[in-house]
Amino acid sequence: MPCQSNEELESILLEAKQYTHNGKVADYIPALSKANPDDLSVAIYHHDGTCYSAGCIHEKITLQSISKVITLALALIESGEEYVFSKVGYEPTGDPFNSIVKLEMSNPSKPLNPMINAGALAVTHMIKGNSVDERFQKIIEFVKLLSGNSDIGYSAEVAESEFETSHLNRALCFFMKQHGIINEDVEELLDLYTKQCSIEVNCLDLARIGIVFALDGKEPVTNKQLMPAHVARICKTFMVTCGMYNASGEFAVRVGIPAKSGVSGGILGAVPSRFGIGISGPALDDKGNSVAGLKLLEILAKKYDLSMF
Ligand code: GLN
Repeated sequence: MPCQSNEELESILLEAKQYTHNGKVADYIPALSKANPDDLSVAIYHHDGTCYSAGCIHEKITLQSISKVITLALALIESGEEYVFSKVGYEPTGDPFNSIVKLEMSNPSKPLNPMINAGALAVTHMIKGNSVDERFQKIIEFVKLLSGNSDIGYSAEVAESEFETSHLNRALCFFMKQHGIINEDVEELLDLYTKQCSIEVNCLDLARIGIVFALDGKEPVTNKQLMPAHVARICKTFMVTCGMYNASGEFAVRVGIPAKSGVSGGILGAVPSRFGIGISGPALDDKGNSVAGLKLLEILAKKYDLSMF
């Protein structure tokens, strides 16, 4: 069923779009600075398979940090809860996503949660396979499955651009290697991680991935279980506690749904049992969240009583 454009959603989008002027696109990954800060699009996927959208919905962005929730699900499926949480913790940090500070302060020296860069790198390290290519194929196939879109690909330009400038992520990896959290070649891990972050999606893909999480791992309409329910629940819990970086507390108050953002300006939302929401809006606030995307979700949450709290 094609996603239908919706007038009410268009007018909410227009209201939120004014806020794009308060933000700017990420430039610490040089290729991301080419994004148009004025873009904003949204799709809402319902549990019965209907979908409503507004804005330039075919505009593609890279997953960036949204991929962290997808690799977490994959690692939990492959290696189980006990192993995953022996290497990465459960607790929010209250620090920026790329912060290194608490990695040294925690005892044992493991990343505090899988949604910060250190934790996500540790999780990507767990993805099994004989080569970076094989492991990346596994991740991209999983994104295709969850999004129901077999055309999903990745941007080699964005991946290379991040790989070449990943000094901080390299530092996090070397620290974790010293402390036994990871034991593979750091350049290979960064190659895989930057590729997973560069997988390209649009807001429809994000909304469709969101509904699978919202339905505890089930595909809408067919009810096929695409991931175990307990895995989807663990992911949603991290989306609530640390999905919006160090703005997760404020987001829980203002919007109140499991969500994960990325520095490309994407937001993946999962309203339990009801909707998947996908947003693309590259202008970011100072914490790295889509500034107009946040506004849009705030308006939607009020209007449709989305908060789960
Ligand atoms: N690839 C990005 C990084 O590691 C992802 C960060 C993000 O989206 N917050 O810096």
